[in-house]
Amino acid sequence: VSAAGLDSAGVGGPRRALIIGGSMGGLFAALYLAKRGWRVDVFERIGVPLSGRGAGITTHDEMLRAIVDVAGAVPPDFGVHFEWRETVDATGATIGTMRRSQIATSWTRMWQLLRAQLPDTCYHAGRDFQCYEADGTGISAVFADGSRERGDVLIGADGFRSVVRGQFLPEAQPTYAGYVAWRGLIEEAAFSPATRYAIFLKFMFHLPDGEQVIGYPVAGTDNDLRPGHRHWNVLWYRPTDADALRRLFTDDNGTYHPLGIPPPLISRQYVAALKADAEHLPPQFREAYALVSQPILQPIYDLEPQRMVGGRVALVGDAAFVARPHLGGGVVKAAQDSEALARHLAGSAGVTDALAAYEAERQPRGRIFVRHAQELGSYIRRGYASEAEKLAAAQYRVPHSLMSETALMDWLRGAGALS
Ligand SMILES: Cc1cc2nc3c(=O)[nH]c(=O)nc-3n(C[C@H](O)[C@H](O)[C@H](O)COP(=O)(O)OP(=O)(O)OC[C@H]3O[C@@H](n4cnc5c(N)ncnc54)[C@H](O)[C@@H]3O)c2cc1C
Repeated sequence: VSAAGLDSAGVGGPRRALIIGGSMGGLFAALYLAKRGWRVDVFERIGVPLSGRGAGITTHDEMLRAIVDVAGAVPPDFGVHFEWRETVDATGATIGTMRRSQIATSWTRMWQLLRAQLPDTCYHAGRDFQCYEADGTGISAVFADGSRERGDVLIGADGFRSVVRGQFLPEAQPTYAGYVAWRGLIEEAAFSPATRYAIFLKFMFHLPDGEQVIGYPVAGTDNDLRPGHRHWNVLWYRPTDADALRRLFTDDNGTYHPLGIPPPLISRQYVAALKADAEHLPPQFREAYALVSQPILQPIYDLEPQRMVGGRVALVGDAAFVARPHLGGGVVKAAQDSEALARHLAGSAGVTDALAAYEAERQPRGRIFVRHAQELGSYIRRGYASEAEKLAAAQYRVPHSLMSETALMDWLRGAGALS
């Protein structure tokens, strides 16, 4: 029996949850529901084990607590531990420091940890959800291969372009925030000794005009935490208008990829332009971008829908709300949505009443996440509509403000947005 309480056949109680999406939100929802006695089945479109292409994930007390809830314990080798935050100016000189202890792990490590808790019989890879049909006694999911599954509740954990959400709330669409993140992952051993000494075991910041660059260490290949074998995760947020984004999403053969361009297809001219611009960064980040062999382009979106539930359907994680990544809180939000959903569904209320109670609890919190992340990213732009807008945004150009709120949960805790 796994920590989540599932037996090897993956059969829990008599009530069955159909969970669409097998990433963070889907796995947390399955594990929390299984602990509450539900029979759970996760249907994931992608046919192979998921991987975050090296993306780093900063952890928080709430995330570690959620891991303990569903996996029993946080493994001692969960990630890279660092103690300091530091902001540098264009010359690379330190202009601010702050002591904050934190662990950074990798997306893949986090996914593998959650996935290992769920019996294989509960995880159905390569199942592309198309639509649902609900009636008075249950709900059916219909998949692209023509197959159907029937359950008591259907959970949309299918990310920010959620097909589940599209069926009952088609008007709720992510809106482009006007900037992108250029992400990269660099092997520790590739850095010069001086840079390695300067950047490893710190969360580093640099604030060019209207832009933001951050970097922090994460585990290396196969979760290697040994000094010399780790990776450095770097992100450069840059204002990019919608026309420019369209060009970035068009490969060298002229094919436009509206849902996101696979990294190897990003046109060489844009990668070369990124590297040329990186020549103007402080030496630490300049070296990092010179070493990035395959940058990843990630447009930043906001999503704040009016509903999280519809009948026997509920949304969790990014399918419900998308906050810009500055808070580093997406996984915590997905975990806490899932915990609340399972708690309400475990009560004596019927499914639709339980889902209404879930929405009443989580909707205001999701909104706080989205709004605060917008504030944190508000200075990443070229030009302002008003002097007041410029003044409000200026707060997050101050190293101390930025360092004390980026990828940390303190503000959200104070605002009551966390459980
Ligand atoms: C640049 C960047 C940095 C980030 N850094 C952090 C961080 O440091 N810490 C943090 O907590 N969060 C971070 N996040 C956010 C975090 O990655 C997300 O919040 C989290 O992955 C959301 O998980 P999810 O399961 O809700 O959605 P997703 O991870 O998007 O998963 C949705 C899943 O549903 C599947 N799916 C989609 N459609 C269908 C369908 N029709 N049928 C079946 N399956 C389907 C998809 O294949 C996918 O596996 C970051 C995000 C970005 C963009």
